[in-house]
Amino acid sequence: PEEGSKLDTTGTTPNLAPEFPSAAAGGPRMNATFVTLARNSDVWELARSIRHVEDRFNEKYHYDWVFLNNEEFSEEFKKVTTNLVSGKTHYGLIPVDHWSFPDFIDQEKAEAVREEMKNKKIIYGDSISYRHMCRYESGFFFRHELMNKFEWYWRVEPSIELYCDIDYDPFKFMADNKKKYSFVLSLFEYVETIPTLWDSVKTFMSKHPEHIAEGNALGWLSDDEGDTYNHCHFWSNFEIGNLNWLRSKAYLDYFNSLDRDGGFFYERWGDAPVHSIAAALMLKQDEIHFFNDIAYYHVPFTHCPTGEDYRLKHKCHCEPGKNFDWKSYSCTTKWFDVTGLQKPDGWEKEV
Ligand code: GDP
Ligand code: MN
Repeated sequence: PEEGSKLDTTGTTPNLAPEFPSAAAGGPRMNATFVTLARNSDVWELARSIRHVEDRFNEKYHYDWVFLNNEEFSEEFKKVTTNLVSGKTHYGLIPVDHWSFPDFIDQEKAEAVREEMKNKKIIYGDSISYRHMCRYESGFFFRHELMNKFEWYWRVEPSIELYCDIDYDPFKFMADNKKKYSFVLSLFEYVETIPTLWDSVKTFMSKHPEHIAEGNALGWLSDDEGDTYNHCHFWSNFEIGNLNWLRSKAYLDYFNSLDRDGGFFYERWGDAPVHSIAAALMLKQDEIHFFNDIAYYHVPFTHCPTGEDYRLKHKCHCEPGKNFDWKSYSCTTKWFDVTGLQKPDGWEKEV
């Protein structure tokens, strides 16, 4: 791992934005980083994401950014991203054993599944790399050595957009309000990718009842007290969360139990349902936060904050009619109902 050195093409350092208040503005700086898993070929789509994050938030705060890859990052990737990020950049290679088939996986069985999913035209159904990606995001990114010194992370993917100014520190908000996990979009998972995930979760729950939190959000995952999964999940391409929670014995017992059951390869379990189920079962409801004020896009869904007043004050450029929150395929209405939160004024008009 190496730290990106600041480019200095003009004789001054162009990316420190000295006219903005330092990271200490608004209170103490959090021990936090952005984190992105990416291929070298993602660099230009990622550049767009970084620009959004910097323009709307990080140019005022200068948080670090960790980039992770299963291959060595190219010089071009490092040059472009270091130049755009206003904090320090770090580039990490993923250890081979975090991005390969565990020995307990039956390769022939896994291959047959990929063939079957290909015929059924299930998205990424025939992909090996997508499965490694989902397993890595589920169980390993928070244990990469570059992540060790941080307590908080904000996950960013290529091609995302942020539509409103963020004029406070969401990491500090999380810490001050004892939050561990957060989301902006939620929806129903594609059933064919996770047919036995809930069975595996139930096995884990019976093996480790000590990890199931009192005051959890099981009611958001299941409409029959845990018998079946309703497929609600937080969309994990956006996450702000606590790394110590992911590194806890509870989460690691959960991940290892699921991993052993083989569904990352025998099915196509996504890190979104895996993280979501963990958060909903092993955290208290009020440790999970819905960031209504972080306006976000990842193809094909938009989270545009309900409430014109907020949108005007924060110079939002999203189209309110595109807001996915209260539509029938979103699970956010259910989140509000299960946790007893009051929906923002005007939500009925966006259904
Ligand atoms: P989708 O959002 O589910 O369609 O999946 P993406 O293609 O956006 O992948 C999710 C994240 O993993 C993104 O940050 C990608 O850049 C990253 N990613 C996906 N596949 C690979 C891979 O094979 N290698 C690396 N290094 N990153 C990957
Ligand atoms: Mn994506």
